[in-house]
Amino acid sequence: MIIYKFGGVSVKDAKAIKNISKIIGEVNEPLTVVVSAVGNTTNLLEGIIDAHYSGKENVKELLEELKQKHLTLTLDLFDEFPADLLVKLQSLFSEMETRLSKPFTESFNFEYDQLIAFGELLSTTIVSAYLNKIGQQNEWVDIRTCLDADDKYRDANILWDSSEKKVKSVFKAKSRALYITQGFIASDFKGSTCSLGREGSDYTAAILAYILDAEKMIIWKDVLGVLNADPDYFSNTTKLDLIPYQEAIELSYYGASVIHPKTIKPLQAKGIPLWVKSFIKPKEEGTLITKGDLPQPLLPNFIVKKKQVLISIKPHNFSFIGENDLFFVFSLINKYGVKLNFTQNTAVSFVFCVNHSFRFIDGLINDLKEKYDVEREDGLELITLRHYTPETITEITEGHQILIEQKNKNTAIFLSQGSQEVPIEECCCEQEKRQ
Ligand code: ASP
Ligand code: MG
Repeated sequence: MIIYKFGGVSVKDAKAIKNISKIIGEVNEPLTVVVSAVGNTTNLLEGIIDAHYSGKENVKELLEELKQKHLTLTLDLFDEFPADLLVKLQSLFSEMETRLSKPFTESFNFEYDQLIAFGELLSTTIVSAYLNKIGQQNEWVDIRTCLDADDKYRDANILWDSSEKKVKSVFKAKSRALYITQGFIASDFKGSTCSLGREGSDYTAAILAYILDAEKMIIWKDVLGVLNADPDYFSNTTKLDLIPYQEAIELSYYGASVIHPKTIKPLQAKGIPLWVKSFIKPKEEGTLITKGDLPQPLLPNFIVKKKQVLISIKPHNFSFIGENDLFFVFSLINKYGVKLNFTQNTAVSFVFCVNHSFRFIDGLINDLKEKYDVEREDGLELITLRHYTPETITEITEGHQILIEQKNKNTAIFLSQGSQEVPIEECCCEQEKRQ
C-alpha cells in the first residue's frame, strides 16, 4: 500500500483537483489518498463556529459562502451537477444547518469538532466523485468508521488497538485498490466526531501508513520539498534532499510548517520512508525523510513561527515564582492545550511563549489573572535556527527587534517583534498566499 496526502492547496479549485487526479492516475498499486479540506475551508469553518458561538449575525452569510465555494468548485469540475453528488453535498450542508440552527449545548470543543469535520467530508466527497467520473474507480471511506480516538476534542489521541483492527478490515490492499478518505478527523467511543488538531491530515496519513505497513508515504505540497527556510521570509532557500527522521521531528517541533509534528513518529517506528514532493512538479525528486544520519556539511535551517504570544506573569503579592507556581501554570497550559514554545524564569516573573490558538489563549489568561499580574504581547515571531553559525545569527538578528534569545548546542531561538501583523484569519493559509 502507498499513502498519499493532499493538503488544502492541492484541491483548492477544479484545476488543482484535475492536477492531482493525474498524479493519482499514475499509480498502479494499492493506494490510499488522504485529503484535507478545500483551500482555506477549515478557517472559514472556524469563522462560522465562532460566529455561531458568539451569537453573531453573519453565520448564514458565512455558511452560504462555504456552500457556494463547494458548489462552484463542483460545477467547474463536472460542467453540470451530477445528481448523486449534489444529493450528497446537500445532505452535508443540511447536517451543518441543523447543527447551526440551535445554540451549542455541549462544550465548545465538542461542538467545534462536530462542525469542523465538514471541510474534509465535503472535499473527499467531491474528489472521489470526480475520480470515479474520469474512470479512476475508488472507494470513499468515512475515516470516522475506522479511526478511534479519545474525547479530547480538537486534539484527540488515537486509540491504536481498536483503530488498527478497523483500518485493516476496511483498507484492503487488493490489486489496484484506490481509497479516498479524510485527514484530520476520527471518532470517539460514543461515535461523535473528534479532530486531531489543526493541520492534522499529515498525521492521519502517517497513522494509516503505520497500520497498513505502507511501502511509502508521500505528502504533496506546492513547494519542491522541505526547504531549509520559509520562502515567505528568506530569499535564499535550499531544498533538503534527505532528512533523518529524528531531525525531521526536531524541525517540525520547532515549527517547520511543512510537516505536522506528530507525523514522523509512526513512520519512524516502522521505517516507512516519507517523501515530500511538489504536486506542481511531480517528477522532481522532492525530499526523503528516512533512517540515517544528517548529511554533512550541516545546512542551517531557519524556521519562523508567526502568531506568537508572549505571556509574562508576576505573583500579585510580589512573592517569588516557585515550583507551585510553575506547576499551576503548566497545568493550565495543559488544560487549554496551548502549544508552549519556550519558557524563561527570573526570581519574580515567569515568561512563556505560546502559539496563538483560536479561543484557548483568552481562557488561559483569565485563569492566570486570578493569581498573577499578567502581561500579554501578541503578534510576535519566533525564529529558530538549527545548526547555526555566527553569520546566520547575524542574518537573523539584523533588522529584527529581538526580545528574547535562547541558545543550545544545535539550536538558537529568537523571539522578535513581528515584521508585519498578520490578521488571525489569514495565518493558516500561508501556502495559499505563496502561490
Ligand atoms: N483541514 C485541516 C486544517 O486546515 C486539516 C489539515 O489541513 O491538515 O487544519
Ligand atoms: Mg488545511
